[in-house]
Amino acid sequence: MTPGHERIRRFLNDHEPATPCLVVDTDTVAARVRELVAGFPHARLCYAVKANPEPAVLRAVLAAGGGFDVAGPAEISACLAAGAPAAALSYGNTIKKPADIAFASDRGVRDFTTDAPGDVANLAEHAPGASVSVRILVDGPASATPFGQKFGCEPDAAAALLVEADRLGLDAAGVAFHVGSQQPDPGAWEPGIAAAAKIFAACAAQGVRLRRLNIGGGFGVAYRSPVPSLAEYASAIRTAVRAHFPDEPEILLEPGRAVVAGAGLIRTEVVLVSHRFGRRWVYLDVGRYNGLAETENEAIPYRLDPLGRDGERGPVVLAGPTCDGDDVLYQRTPYELPLSLRAGDRIDILDTGAYTASYSSVAFNGIPPLRTYCLEGGRLADDT
Ligand SMILES: *Cc1c(COP(=O)(O)O)cnc(C)c1O
Repeated sequence: MTPGHERIRRFLNDHEPATPCLVVDTDTVAARVRELVAGFPHARLCYAVKANPEPAVLRAVLAAGGGFDVAGPAEISACLAAGAPAAALSYGNTIKKPADIAFASDRGVRDFTTDAPGDVANLAEHAPGASVSVRILVDGPASATPFGQKFGCEPDAAAALLVEADRLGLDAAGVAFHVGSQQPDPGAWEPGIAAAAKIFAACAAQGVRLRRLNIGGGFGVAYRSPVPSLAEYASAIRTAVRAHFPDEPEILLEPGRAVVAGAGLIRTEVVLVSHRFGRRWVYLDVGRYNGLAETENEAIPYRLDPLGRDGERGPVVLAGPTCDGDDVLYQRTPYELPLSLRAGDRIDILDTGAYTASYSSVAFNGIPPLRTYCLEGGRLADDT
């Protein structure tokens, strides 16, 4: 058990809060940010707020030297309220209304990511002179939760977009890409880095000098199987940058999952154990709609720790508490739990600090959003 897990377990044992709940140890968040900053010296780190926007998490990121990748007005306000200077914010969402751009610009946000002419025109109008990076679409085939084709222009269109941004009075800063979340292949960044270098050269040939390379997030978390170390990711990325760029660009990272997943744990209760059609079904009080959205397609297989039950284990299907047929967590991914498991037992779900509470519905079947408790220095934060 890590020190963070010990602090979380101590809090849960002392306070026995109602389940389900998520407990996040923000000292672990800060340690992860420091580790990432150390692994990518000279890079700027902008934590992807959507992974977990709790105020105490944002404060920990900031205190450890991180900035923020924000997706819209509410996340901007949350970061500013946590004490971040506007200069620490990067507006990474390419899908934004003119009013959202104006909101950001009014509050001093100067860095934006874009991928379409319509958005570039809106940026020029509502955030004049702002710095823009153009997101390109690169394949991230190994990602557990890929972005598909939703974001990023074709690499061949990026240089024209950056030249256009420059012509409209924006600061054409560079190129961005994201290899897909939970990306287990450190080599996945290389094609994006290579494509970006070509775009830098194409822009330079037209008199526009780029300087920034935003390599996104995607760093993996060891849920049930190992993932490369940060050093392995960093080394592969550094090697690719050196191979493709004659002069090293400014690097921006936007990790979300790798910062906060391992800092959190969900405690849940077994509601029902039922033998049906030859399988043992275990229903928990947490499911797809109140915290475990990333079990969609069984994309993220979390590690489970049944408390106080040892002995022989057998296969289970795991499902959530709602009246929805899709609220099944794992029916294909093999899971085994103790045969002695009973209703009322507690199960801890590990490494659940990222993309859990922030994805939780407000009241599906009347179930409230996943309650989060943040620990700061081992004690409950005031505003959690
Ligand atoms: C979600 C997101 C991230 C974070 O990705 P992780 O896989 O959680 O590291 C980074 N950048 C952008 C633009 C995102 O949308």
